[in-house]
Parts: sequence; structure tokens; C-alpha cells
Amino acid sequence: MSLKGKTAIITGSNSGIGLGIARELAKAGADVVLNSFTDRDEDHALAREIAAEYGVAARYIQADMSKGDQCRALIEQAGACDILVNNAGIQHVCPIDEFPTDKWDAIIAINLTSAFHTTAVALPVMRKAGWGRIVNIASAHGLTASPYKSAYVAAKHGIVGLSKTTALETAGQGITCNAICPGYVLTPLVEAQIPDTMKKYDMDRDEVIKKVMLERQPSKEFATVEQLGGTAVFLCSDAAAQITGTTISVDGGWTAL
Ligand code: NAD
Repeated sequence: MSLKGKTAIITGSNSGIGLGIARELAKAGADVVLNSFTDRDEDHALAREIAAEYGVAARYIQADMSKGDQCRALIEQAGACDILVNNAGIQHVCPIDEFPTDKWDAIIAINLTSAFHTTAVALPVMRKAGWGRIVNIASAHGLTASPYKSAYVAAKHGIVGLSKTTALETAGQGITCNAICPGYVLTPLVEAQIPDTMKKYDMDRDEVIKKVMLERQPSKEFATVEQLGGTAVFLCSDAAAQITGTTISVDGGWTAL
């Protein structure tokens, strides 16, 4: 599968799943645009590393996905957009009656509304080219719920709905839109939840991973960023041209339970 000549924009890709997906798309030949809200030397260095490793064009564009105008500017500044991966996301864990409003607003903005803005600007570009792939990174929490993750679960269910609507509005135009639903992947987002969970349940790190995090993941193994990247590459392939408006779970069996 060669994605040579295609440009992929991956939001929230200076770490974790986004970076893993960017690497796999670059390995498949795509030019990549990395993004996050920071503008550090190390962010730009990641793009240089990918360019050198895979022989593709790679650059980093700073844009804050909590701001609609910056989401739109990211796509415009990239200058091309054949593949759009809406991946930026944050988490906050708290009961609904204590959930801080600013955290709710930030999660909805970054995990859901950003994809509306980027998709709105990307679609005319893809329609003009007669080809496009939109891959939204939802979650097992786009299909099921857990307590204390109200904003995240709402945003992830929302992005599954947005993916279906985008698919219907682009059907037959050479464009597909799907949502990948990962189970637990050991990234900084998940690492950040471990200390609080250790305190809450009086458990050590290993117990939190096995008894709390992977409790609902029947394989008892984390999914990896490379596996998520491989799934994204598949969705960009010709074999996936008729796969649109659906979800692909990469969750070790979580949603089969
Ligand atoms: P991560 O913290 O490693 O990555 C999140 C990325 O989003 C980072 O690059 C971060 O810089 C970026 N980001 C955060 N706020 C941003 C903003 N305002 N503007 C631009 N970029 C911003 O976490 P991850 O686990 O790699 O998460 C990536 C996606 O995968 C998220 O949407 C998350 O919900 C989803 N996901 C993760 C898991 C998991 O177990 N790790 C499971 C299911 C879904």
C-alpha cells in the first residue's frame, strides 16, 4: 500500500496515538503534517526525524484544537489535505455533579468540536481532488460508557455520530469517513490517570493496570500506537474504499462483552 503523493494532517500528533499514526502513514509513503498547541524545538524535531526516517515531507504546525479558528487555519496552512486524522484529545475523570465546567467545555471543544472545524475546511479540498480519507479517533468510550468520564464519553459518542454524518454527506465522492475506537493504549493520556487511580483504590501500578484499566479489555493487553497506525493506513487503502460511516474497534474484545 503506497500513500506516496498524499498529504496527511494528524491533529494532536506530538505524542501517543497521533504520533504513532503519523509514523505509520509516513512509513506508507504519505507526507505528514504534525500538530499540537505547543511550539517547541522538540515538536519541530519530531517532524524532521520522520522526514529523515521515511523519506517523506514532514512538518509541524502549531494550532490549538480548542479554538475553532485555529483548527480551520491548520488545514488552510497545510496547503493540501488528502488524509485528515482527527486525534487530539484530553481526559478528565470526575463525577458529573462535581465536574468542572471549564473541563467539560475543553473536552467537548478538543475531542469533538475541533473535528467539525477541520472536516468543514478539508471537505472542499477532498471533493476537488475526488479522493479523501477522514479518520476520527474515537474510543471504546464512543460505544460504551464508564462512570466519571461524562464529558469524554459524550464527546466520543459525538465523534462517532459526526463520522456517520460525514460519511453520508460524502458517499460516492471518493471520500470515506470512519472512526477508530481504541481500548486502552499506554500513552501519556493513560499514564496520567494511573497515580490518582493508585490512590483511589490503594493499589500499586501493576494492580491498577491489570485490575482497573485492563479489567474490561478481555485480551488483558494494551493496544499499541503501531496497531492504531496500521488501522489508519488500512482505512486509507483501496481495500477500504467502501468502508465508510462505521467504527473499527481496536480494543482487545472490550466491546464484545
Ligand atoms: P496523548 O496525551 O499522548 O495525546 C494527545 C495529543 O493531543 C497530544 O499530542 C497533545 O499534545 C494533543 N492535544 C491536547 N490538547 C490539544 C490542543 N488543545 N490542541 C492540539 N493538540 C492537543 O494521548 P493519546 O492516548 O495518544 O490520545 C490520542 C487520542 O486517542 C485522543 O483523542 C484519545 O481520546 C484517544 N484514545 C486514547 C486511548 C488510550 O488508551 N490512550 C483510548 C481510546 C482513545
